[in-house]
Amino acid sequence: MKSRTLSQIKDKIENGEATVLTAEEVSRLVKEGNKPGFDDVDVVTTGTCGIMSGTAAVLHIKVDEPGSFKKASKILLNGVPGFPGPCPNEWLGTVDLIVYGTSHSIYDDDYGGGFLFQDIIKGNEIKVKMESTNGETIETIATIDDMGTAQMVGTRLAFKNYTAFVNPSEESVASIFNAVNMEGPYKGLSFSGCGELNPLQNDPHMRNIKEGVRVLLCGSVGIVLGQGTRSSQEKPNLMISADMRQMDPLYVGGYKTADGPEVFNSVAAAIPILNEDILKDTLITNKEIKLPVADIRGRHQVLGFTDYASVWEDITERPVYYPEGCQKCELCLVCERCPTGAFKSNFDEEICFGCGMCNYSCPHGAFQMKRGKIRLNIDEKLVELPIVCRQSDIIRARKLAEELKKRVINGSFYLSE
Ligand code: SF4
Ligand code: SF4
Repeated sequence: MKSRTLSQIKDKIENGEATVLTAEEVSRLVKEGNKPGFDDVDVVTTGTCGIMSGTAAVLHIKVDEPGSFKKASKILLNGVPGFPGPCPNEWLGTVDLIVYGTSHSIYDDDYGGGFLFQDIIKGNEIKVKMESTNGETIETIATIDDMGTAQMVGTRLAFKNYTAFVNPSEESVASIFNAVNMEGPYKGLSFSGCGELNPLQNDPHMRNIKEGVRVLLCGSVGIVLGQGTRSSQEKPNLMISADMRQMDPLYVGGYKTADGPEVFNSVAAAIPILNEDILKDTLITNKEIKLPVADIRGRHQVLGFTDYASVWEDITERPVYYPEGCQKCELCLVCERCPTGAFKSNFDEEICFGCGMCNYSCPHGAFQMKRGKIRLNIDEKLVELPIVCRQSDIIRARKLAEELKKRVINGSFYLSE
């Protein structure tokens, strides 16, 4: 088996001789019949973006002057509850806290931890309301510059495998796996995962992407702390941490679901091609990656299988908004349902996630988009399921994988030993 060392790859990068490709570029070559050989590629960069519920922020915030209160007992950031501690910071006027990306504002049902993290990273002013153990309430405004620490910790990120969901029942079902209540029976499908671009899909045995390895988390250089919660050989995922100060708000934010606001973020990882086995794993294409389709009620009853070519190919990745088609409805279903807030009175393409909810919801066709559909054999009947909601964003995943490729080539991202 052909092989090379990491320092040989690093030397090639330094001399401007390394070939660095994104996982999508590798898969495209395979699909075109030009499967790359070991000598054709040195590093493959991968990426994923989607709802990743296991995301939290560890913050240290100045709330008042030293001596002003003993300890915090409760804290709200823009109405989103955090957990003060573990350090009590007695009489220091500061609070250590942990905020979950899945926490919801007590004032606004549509705002939660994911939206808050994006606001913090953007440098926006955050309303802080703290209650001390002595019963005082202190209100202040803080930005990321007032935070000694702003560290994101993902306890379960970048799953290799995901499940798509349908509703086989007559009753609509509210779940975090769809932006609105999922209608049934078999009215549509929601799914997650970036298929052939996904980091662990290209390194399923975690030969390279493992504890101690550097990755990009939402644009910031982070470290893989180890395997994430619920990680298994069959369904691996990662625990990652990175400084929020270096993050790009494009890659992290809130995403409203039928069961309240969630958090999305993005991970990119580089795979040094050290031997032919490692290369072989990166040659995977969407068609070969199975996507189980399960009952959204309970999540575990698998009804059939599709693949990532069926959900990511022959579709459009973003909607096109036709303002002339907009009827200015009294109740705009798109404004109400758009999970990221990309459509209020205008369409903000930068915020758009490509979920498809606008195209699904607008009764006047103001949003055009090819969401795609899959066919599934259920109980010996062929069922056609339109894709109603994408909970991963292939454009952000691709962009981050390309950003990592650029950094590897220009030497600003060092491959881990
Ligand atoms: S539902 Fe469609 S047509 Fe009506 S206001 Fe919203 S975007 Fe315009
Ligand atoms: S695809 Fe439509 S509903 Fe989804 S984020 Fe973009 S504008 Fe909003």
